[in-house]
Amino acid sequence: MNSAAPGAKPMAEVVVAPTPTPSPVPAPPSFANWTTYGGNSEETRFSPLTAINAQNAAGLGLAWSHEFDTARGMEATPLVQDGVLYTTTSWSKVYAFDATSGNVLWSYDPKVPGETGFKACCDVVNRGGVLFEGKFYFGTLDGRLIALDAKTGSPVWSTVTVDQSKPYTITGAPRIAKGRVLIGNGGGEYGVRGYISAYDANSGKLAWRFYTVPPAKGAPADGAASDAVIPKMQATWAGDYGKLGGGGPVWDTIVYDQEFNQVIFGVGNGTPWDRRTRSADKGDNLFLDSIVAVDADTGAYKWHYGGSPGEVWDFDQTQSVILSDLNIGGQNRKILMQAPKNGFFYVIDRANGRLISANNYATQTWTTGIDMATGRPNETPNARYAKGPFVSLPSGQGAHNWQPMAFSPQTGLAYIPAQEVPMLYKSDHPFIKRDGGWNLGIELGANTLPNKTAQLKAVRAMLKGHLAAWNPITQKEAWRVQYDGPWNGGVLATAGNLVFQGTSRGTVNAYTADKGQKLWSFDAEIGIMAPPVTYAVNGRQYVAVMAGYGGGYGIGAALADNAGPRPNGRLLVFALGGDAAYHVDHVAPAPAVVVKSTWSAKTLARGGHIYEETCSVCHGGTARSSGVVPDLRRDPLLASKAGWNQVVIGGALSDNGMVSFKKWLTPADAEAVRGYVAARARNLAVNGN
Ligand code: CA
Repeated sequence: MNSAAPGAKPMAEVVVAPTPTPSPVPAPPSFANWTTYGGNSEETRFSPLTAINAQNAAGLGLAWSHEFDTARGMEATPLVQDGVLYTTTSWSKVYAFDATSGNVLWSYDPKVPGETGFKACCDVVNRGGVLFEGKFYFGTLDGRLIALDAKTGSPVWSTVTVDQSKPYTITGAPRIAKGRVLIGNGGGEYGVRGYISAYDANSGKLAWRFYTVPPAKGAPADGAASDAVIPKMQATWAGDYGKLGGGGPVWDTIVYDQEFNQVIFGVGNGTPWDRRTRSADKGDNLFLDSIVAVDADTGAYKWHYGGSPGEVWDFDQTQSVILSDLNIGGQNRKILMQAPKNGFFYVIDRANGRLISANNYATQTWTTGIDMATGRPNETPNARYAKGPFVSLPSGQGAHNWQPMAFSPQTGLAYIPAQEVPMLYKSDHPFIKRDGGWNLGIELGANTLPNKTAQLKAVRAMLKGHLAAWNPITQKEAWRVQYDGPWNGGVLATAGNLVFQGTSRGTVNAYTADKGQKLWSFDAEIGIMAPPVTYAVNGRQYVAVMAGYGGGYGIGAALADNAGPRPNGRLLVFALGGDAAYHVDHVAPAPAVVVKSTWSAKTLARGGHIYEETCSVCHGGTARSSGVVPDLRRDPLLASKAGWNQVVIGGALSDNGMVSFKKWLTPADAEAVRGYVAARARNLAVNGN
């Protein structure tokens, strides 16, 4: 079903090209900007700046930092233009700083209602904006696209891009193509129908929209750019599809490929994850888990490549798409490269979407490889967990998630924030739609962590992360830096033979780009997921990164026991000789709240099931919090049946994102959950975890 069929070259035929000649090193410019998400139109996250380089990187220090007003996850790519640094934070707030001093020039709060946090699968994050002709454009968690005057921060226009009665969110950064602002949305875990929209940058008027999955069975066409391919999409779906929207959100990657006048975007998973429920277990379900190219002027379909046809694993194919020209087999090929969640590194022809080569860049158990004649994966026998549970590597957390990768044309290497996070997939078919939470079609509770300290330690030791330097021509790893945990930061590469990356443990590191030798490290004391950027003002080069842990994995997975509440996020800016003071106040975790059990074993089991399916995605599996949202085992409310009920059913904390669950849970359900959390709290008091 992929458009890559005939002519795709088997990997064995890919001939290794000579090492590319390094481009001449330019003189350091007085100003160097970073105005769009990926740093340039190819989204390489490679900077030609060389003032900071492998010879002097050890002399880096903090030039300035800024503490924000939230401890929720920070994922933004800061932007810089002519000495002004722009960034966004959780809850879609925008800040503009003097890029040399850190003075706040203006800030803008779109006042996202707190209860919107409930619709966000993966924390209330924002990955940044785009600068274009004097305006700063960004999306809000509640689905608005806003244009601000870049000088003053005053709103110029604002438009609602989604049906706000549905669980759509925006966390991704917009891009610019032909005077239009491109934006997608998220919600594939809840039940939405994904699409990408193009709005006129001056007026905010909708120019075109492309839906990534067909309308529900029997529903009319949309009057959108995707209408022409509805039959092509429909032919790959079966049963009564579309009841939950189908999924396919365009929640992250969008690239404008000027050479082919096309917009290339990544499409996410289906709703629910399990195809048995979504599409009568049949078909490729276009365009789930695909890269799609459309005409930049009209939004008309051009081609697609799908890495996980008819998927059942949450293998969004939304990760960084980087454009390049590579010499492959003696030919200059205009390619894109991508390392999506499913563990494979793809090199794809931008002219037609055909697969040129693929290899797995991380351990994977769901295939025996890619059939290069068809471009399709050869799945292992029980990968679809039809005959019982299946432990998959990668999992829905991805061998690589949204943390952007970089590509250096100097070294010819791509730098992937890779990870190994296994997951046990257990179908809960026949599935019952749940309005109050995720709709996956699998039992999340099958992944609860053990109580015994030694077993817990063993499970945590399986969770790994590394920085992989990957050669897209040979499809082989050149070097790697191993970390002691997953969910590390996005990557920046520079012409100074440097690669920068933050880690979930809170360090910011510089390595040589050619060999991966560690040259410099800074202890930020706050977990880092966001990608660094670099810029120059008045001839001085800076490196900036947002620090703040959370996001899809970070919000729900405790890295260690006895993590206290997370500190507020920071913006960190480094320069050679920087010596700014830095201090983070850490709050010690509160003790476990021990409540005598008055719940029957049956009630506790029911409470555990409800907790793991509904509450765990934010408050942590087995009630072990990562500290991003409150650790319920340590919350005084646990001791109060009435107080607990006021929050869970009464919605007393809805401004913080903890909405009332009364539409989906009864007071007796809430009380059963309290019993389960109380049991977890007693385990914490006795076993320390
Ligand atoms: Ca997903």
